[in-house]
Order: sequence, then C-alpha cells, then structure tokens
Amino acid sequence: MFKNNILKVIVSFAIVIVAVMSCKEESKKLYVGTNAEFEPFEYRESGNIVGFDIELVGEIAKLINVEIEIEDMAFDGLLPALQTKKIDLIIAGMTATEERKKNVNFSESYYKSQQAIVVNNDENGINAFDNLVGKDVGVVLGYTGDLIVSEISNVRVQRYNATSEAIMGLKAKKVQAVVLDYEPAKNYSAQNPELKLIETDSESEEYAIAIRKEDTQLLDDINKALATLKENGTYDALLNKYFK
Ligand code: GLN
Repeated sequence: MFKNNILKVIVSFAIVIVAVMSCKEESKKLYVGTNAEFEPFEYRESGNIVGFDIELVGEIAKLINVEIEIEDMAFDGLLPALQTKKIDLIIAGMTATEERKKNVNFSESYYKSQQAIVVNNDENGINAFDNLVGKDVGVVLGYTGDLIVSEISNVRVQRYNATSEAIMGLKAKKVQAVVLDYEPAKNYSAQNPELKLIETDSESEEYAIAIRKEDTQLLDDINKALATLKENGTYDALLNKYFK
C-alpha cells in the first residue's frame, strides 16, 4: 500500500516535470525589433503597434510555434540591438543591403519598394533626384534614403532621428525635400495636404527580416513560414489589407 503511494507520487512528479518542460518548449519567446513610424508597415494606432510587418511576423510566429514580443526602438538602434541579443529578429521595412548583409542574415524578401521624394506643394523645382543638388534635403539617420542622398554631391543633408521629425522639418521649410521609402512617403503626403509626392526611378529595394548570422535554424524556419504564407493566401490577404 505504502509502496503504491510512493509510486503514485513519483509518477505524478514525473508527469508534472514533463508537462512543465513541454510547456517551456511551447512558450519559447522571440523578441522582435521594429520602429513603429513606417506606415503601413509598422505604426501606432491608439497606442498599439500595428501594420503589415507586425501581422506578417505574427503569422510567421504561429507557424513556427513561438511567442513574440514587439520592441519599438529607433531605426538605427535595431541592428546593434540584434547583435547584442536584446532582440532576436528585426522586421521594420528594412532593406536587405549588401552592407547590412556583412553583419546579419536576411530572410527571403517579402516586399519590394524604392525611394520617393516628398516636397511642399509650392515647390516646383524638384522632380527627380538630380534636382536635389544645391538643396537642403531631409533624411532619416541610417535609412537607405540617407545612404542614397549622401552619395549625391553638393546636397546639404539634414539627418533626422525619426521620419515624423523629417516631415516636420519639411513643413517648417527647414529642408526643401525629404527622401523616404515610397509607401510611407505616399502616406505622409496623403495625410498632409500641403505636401506632395514625387516618384523616382531609384533602384528597387527588397525588404526582409534580419536575423543573427548564427541563428541558421531560425532563418530556415522563417523562410519556410514565408513560403507557406505566400502559398496559402495569407500574404496576399495582408497585401490587400494594407496596400490599397
Ligand atoms: N527601407 C529603409 C531602410 O532599410 C527604411 C526602413 C524604415 O524606415 N523602417 O533603411
């Protein structure tokens, strides 16, 4: 009788331990870095971080069975945070540039974009990148727009810490143009009637998820999940939701 009870206790302990272990396995958490100033990819709506990228990474997390927590930070802090393991991946409309690829891995591309110029409505002299010569041009620190404008000679580049600050600078006429990725540029000009969007023929850029070089399994899982979402219609449904 006594032995039987001990056996029961041991068995129940074993069950509890296995349950706790499998629970831990299931609730593996990944910290996702973003910069919620990039509508429609990531932005705030009544305080919550929403957007195409946020939903996409949520769907990926479901498929690879991990929990995620979104960490909002300055764009130029994202790559350092990934490398110092404060976050585990980045989804932030981030272009997979050759320079960035030296330090991190990128998933397959999930969106193609390019740069655009935003100007005040009464600005008639800026219709292409060439017209930026001799002008004060706002960019956001570390964005691909910063890299592109910095390569044009004789442009006075004004680097802002956030997109919203660059747009404010433009409205206050501290700069004559802002160079930004096409979709957020389109959004800012639609939301501010005093601004207009100038399309450019800049090189196309591929947005992808950034992961630490050593996390090869995670890279593989993310790529497989992306392929599944592209096949099963989820990806297209998100495109329809956010890009009308
Ligand atoms: N695509 C641009 C880059 O990678 C801007 C991204 C962003 O602002 N979130 O630099």
